[in-house]
Parts: sequence; C-alpha cells; structure tokens
Amino acid sequence: MLFLLAVITITASFDGGSVGEVKQVAPAHLRCGVKGQADQNNRNRQANWYYLRLDSLPREQVRIDLVNLAGEYNFRPGALSVTRNSRPVYSYDGERWIHFTDAQVEWDNAEPCLTLRFTPERPAMWIAHVPPYTKRHLTLLLDDFPRSPNLRREVIGRSVNSREISLLTVTDASVPRERKDVVWLMARQHAWEAGTSWIAEGALRFLLSDSPEAAKLRRSVIWKILPMIDPDGVASGAVRFNANGYDVNRNWDAVDERLMPEIAAARRAIFAWLDSDRRIDLFLALHNTESADFIEGPLAQGGEPVRTLASRFAHALARTASFYATGPPRDAGLSTTPGMKGRMTVNQALFHERNIPAFLMETMVDRNPKLGRPRTTEDNLAFGAELVRAMAASLPPAR
Ligand SMILES: [Zn+2]
Repeated sequence: MLFLLAVITITASFDGGSVGEVKQVAPAHLRCGVKGQADQNNRNRQANWYYLRLDSLPREQVRIDLVNLAGEYNFRPGALSVTRNSRPVYSYDGERWIHFTDAQVEWDNAEPCLTLRFTPERPAMWIAHVPPYTKRHLTLLLDDFPRSPNLRREVIGRSVNSREISLLTVTDASVPRERKDVVWLMARQHAWEAGTSWIAEGALRFLLSDSPEAAKLRRSVIWKILPMIDPDGVASGAVRFNANGYDVNRNWDAVDERLMPEIAAARRAIFAWLDSDRRIDLFLALHNTESADFIEGPLAQGGEPVRTLASRFAHALARTASFYATGPPRDAGLSTTPGMKGRMTVNQALFHERNIPAFLMETMVDRNPKLGRPRTTEDNLAFGAELVRAMAASLPPAR
C-alpha cells in the first residue's frame, strides 16, 4: 500500500541549516548530498556541515545516505572531513542532541558514503554533524548576564553581510590593569566548528560565575573573547569560508577590508589593543577537527619563553577531563602553504608581526578516547571552564 506512506520531507531553510541535493530512493531511504563549500578560487572544498530537518517520518527504520563528501585540504585533493569515524547527532526538539551509535552508522569507502539507519521516535527530527550553535545561542548566553559589572561588550566590526562581530571583555575592573595578565580567546573562525562556540560559552559562563576561583581569575587576568568571527557563515550554514569565499583562518597575511571584513575587524581590534601599550600574554584560536586534540604555536621561532609556555599549557590541558593529546605541542611554522600569499593563520600572523605567543587549538569531533565518546555539548561546556584554568596556569609566574 505504497500510496499510504507519507513522503519524508527534508528542509534546511533555517538559521545555520544546510543540505545539498536530496534524492528519494525508497519511501524510507533518502540520499542527502552534503552541500560543502569551496574557497574564492573554487579550491579546498570541504563537505562536513549538514544540519537538516526531517518531517513526516514513519515509525519504521529510515535510511539516510550522506553523500558528495569528497574534498580538498590545503590544496591536497582527496580530503574527507566526514569519515568512517563520524557520528552525526540528532535531536527531537532542536535543543538536546544525541550522537548516533556505532550500530546506527555504516561507512562505504568506495563512494564514499556515511549511512545512518534508525527508527524515528517522533514524526520530526533534526540531524547535524555536531550540535549546532547559532547567533541565537550567543544572544541567550549574553542575556543571562544583562548587567554584570565584570563583562563588557563591544561591536568591533561587521561581516560581509553586515552582521555584528563582537568582542567581550571579562575582568574585575576594580583591579588596575597593570597588575593583570592578558589572554585572548577566539572562536568560530570556521562556521562548521560549532564545538568551539560551546567551549567559548563554557569559558565565559565559568569566568562570569560566582565561584571564588572565577573571581580570582577576573582579578588576575583580562580576558578578551571573540566568540563568533564568521557570523555570516554560522547563519548560512557555511563550512569554513566567509560570504566571499575567504578562509577566515588563512589570509592573515593578505587582509582586505572589503573581501574579508571579519579578519580586518579582528586584526584591527587586536592591534589597537597592542598599540595602546597593552600586552597579550597568551592568544588562542579554537578549532575543531576530526580525530586529534592538539595545540600548535611558534615553538621554533619563539624560543625558550614560548616553549615553556606551551609546555605548561600542555601539562595543564593533560589534567582536564577531555583533552586527549597524543603528542607534545606542535610547531605552527610560518604559513600553512609556504611561499603562497594568503595562507597565514591568525596565530602565525600574530607571532610573525608582533611576537605574540599565539596558539591554535584543535579539539576532535570523533570519539574522544579519554571520554570514551564523542564530545557532547556538556563535555564542551565543561572543557571551556577547564580551558580557562589551563590558560591561567600556563602563564609565567607573577612578574
Ligand atoms: Zn578551523
């Protein structure tokens, strides 16, 4: 009685949503293209952001094939960002996200294709690569601290599509700045990396909390947090390039106010800080990747002080519940593609131009061996607090 089966519909026309071409193979079997995104020269395609809503689901097993996954990374073709180890998340309310289990996921290396098989518990659900984090989440977070004397909010610029780029400062203003260290934390240069926003939210909630430990960290440190560098990409469900196709964590050596206003705004805010006779003792840009937790920084060029800082940071991170580093901190080098303009990351450029001890941190979205599961939203929020403690612990002893 095929005509009695409702047709499953798939939509992604909401904040952060993304899906490519959808084909119905059978009433309960759909092939969903992952839209992917390429850069301004149609290179470096990355296909690992999908965030879709399914409606009219039957009470029987549904099969979703995620396809069109092939990509390129740093000009090397054949890169896959959805792999056999990817475990997408689903939600019935758009708020609480659960990872698909190993038994629900199958990988076909030949196509390649990631197949999900599950029996829906309700007629509507959402599926995404990782738990989404959009502007709405950031607004709700800041609404929780409407009149905090320890939080200052600034708009430092606007994206290609005129969205606000925010800078948050957390510190105890009653302590003179000369006695404080300065830490900068940047999240969401890459739109798909929603995990970095959950970590930044955890960091911010901890720093603004009533705990005596947080109060101490507000007295001893000025925390500068850039929570969402590519708001256009977050809103449009993009992957890693701004609305004009520029990678927001490359191009720091080729900044163009018109083509990449997000980089220009962040760079201006950071340099204005330094030019007003202020320091940066530690800078960290947060990123997500598939299967590794690590930090990288200017170890080779920065000499002993940077290596000591990196080592203290790595030791502090090793004590956290979820940072799973399989090796020591990595050297960032001068560029991601030596000899080519437009290939410097924020941490590479800040050290190159101003000798800032600037680091990048990757946290994995696949199963984390230390946790025994892929990081959940709760894991990321908890790690945000641990990260703040680790950064403070890695700073040189009081000068
Ligand atoms: Zn990234």
